Amino acid sequence: MQSQGTEFINSIPHSIEKTPTNQKKVLYEGSSKTPESAIFDTILLAVGRSPDFNLLNLKSLGFSQDKNTNKLIVNEADCTSISNIFCIGDCAFQRPELTPSAIMAGRLLARRLFAGSKTLMDYQDIATTVFTPLEYACVGLSEEKAEEKLGKGEFSVYHTYFKPLEWSFSSEKGDQCYVKVIVNKKDQKVMGVHYLGPNAGEVIQVSFEEFLFYFGDFLEKFKIKNLIFFEKTLYFFL
Ligand SMILES: Cc1cc2nc3c(=O)[nH]c(=O)nc-3n(C[C@H](O)[C@H](O)[C@H](O)COP(=O)(O)OP(=O)(O)OC[C@H]3O[C@@H](n4cnc5c(N)ncnc54)[C@H](O)[C@@H]3O)c2cc1C
Repeated sequence: MQSQGTEFINSIPHSIEKTPTNQKKVLYEGSSKTPESAIFDTILLAVGRSPDFNLLNLKSLGFSQDKNTNKLIVNEADCTSISNIFCIGDCAFQRPELTPSAIMAGRLLARRLFAGSKTLMDYQDIATTVFTPLEYACVGLSEEKAEEKLGKGEFSVYHTYFKPLEWSFSSEKGDQCYVKVIVNKKDQKVMGVHYLGPNAGEVIQVSFEEFLFYFGDFLEKFKIKNLIFFEKTLYFFL
C-alpha cells in the first residue's frame, strides 16, 4: 500500500472534530508522543463489534460474561454458563468474528442438538484473509498465540521476503511478498502460516487443504523442505 502512495501514520487517535469546510480534523498522539493533528475528507472506523444484550435482558438470567467485551463465555460445545442456552458467532467470547466460522458453528450445533452428532467446532485452524491491495492471509497461530500456547523459545519462526514470478516484469514492485511459518520445536509441526502476496486468500486455504491431504492432520516443516515446488511460487521460497 505504501508503494502505491498510501501514507501510514503510526499514532493513537484521541478525537475527531468537524472543520468549517466539513472535513475531519483528527487529533492524535504521534510517534514522538506529542499531540499532533491532520485533516482528512473521510474517516473509516474499524473498531470491531460489541454485543448489545440489553433488549434481551440477559443479565436477569445471570450469564457469565467477559468483563471487557461483554461477550458470553462459552465452552467447547458453544454452551453458555446456563446449560440449555448456547451462543455462537460474534456474541461468543474468544470466537473469531468471521461469517464462515459462525455458519459452520451453527450447522454443527444444530446437528449436535437435533441429530445426535458429537462433532465440535474446531476454532483453531480457521484460514482468514485481509483483502488489502497486497493480500494478507494466515492460518493457525500467530507468534503471540504460539508463545501463549507453547511457551517462549519453544517454537521457531522461519520467514522470507520474495518476488513472485508474476511480478518479474514489473519494475515498480520489489521483494514485498512475505511468508512466515511458525514451527513447534518439539515435533516440527507447523503451527501457523502467514502470507502476504497475490491472491493470498486463495493460496492459504488451497495450500492448507493440500497439505492436510498429503500429510494427514498436521504439517511438518521437514516434509515441506523435501518437496519440489514450482520455481518462484510461495513454496519455492520456503
Ligand atoms: C463492516 C463489516 C465487515 C465484515 N467483513 C467480513 C468479511 O469480509 N468476512 C467475514 O468472514 N466476516 C466479516 N465480518 C464479520 C461477520 O459479519 C460476522 O462475523 C458474522 O456476521 C457473525 O455472524 P453472527 O450470526 O454472529 O451475527 P450477525 O450476522 O450480526 O447476526 C446477528 C443477527 O441478529 C439480529 N438481532 C440482533 N438483535 C436481535 C434481537 N434482539 N432479536 C432478534 N434478532 C436480533 C441481527 O439483526 C442480525 O441479523 C464483517 C463485519 C462487519 C461489521
